Amino acid sequence: MSSASGIPPPPSYVCAKCDQPLVRGKVVASYLGSEFPIELWKCPECGKVLVPRELATGRMLQVEQALEDK
Ligand SMILES: [Zn+2]
Repeated sequence: MSSASGIPPPPSYVCAKCDQPLVRGKVVASYLGSEFPIELWKCPECGKVLVPRELATGRMLQVEQALEDK
């Protein structure tokens, strides 16, 4: 019984510095003095977090707007 068909494999990111495959995990992002938990890819070796472009131009912008609206 194969039930996993149709599910795309997870993207594999590699740390440019350590050449280690990044792992997915919860990190605390800090933006404009506010901290919020978020799930991102990070390097198990050096802890560098990969911020996808869509996140940098999308959700981060919403956070900024929310803070300004306060
Ligand atoms: Zn690294």
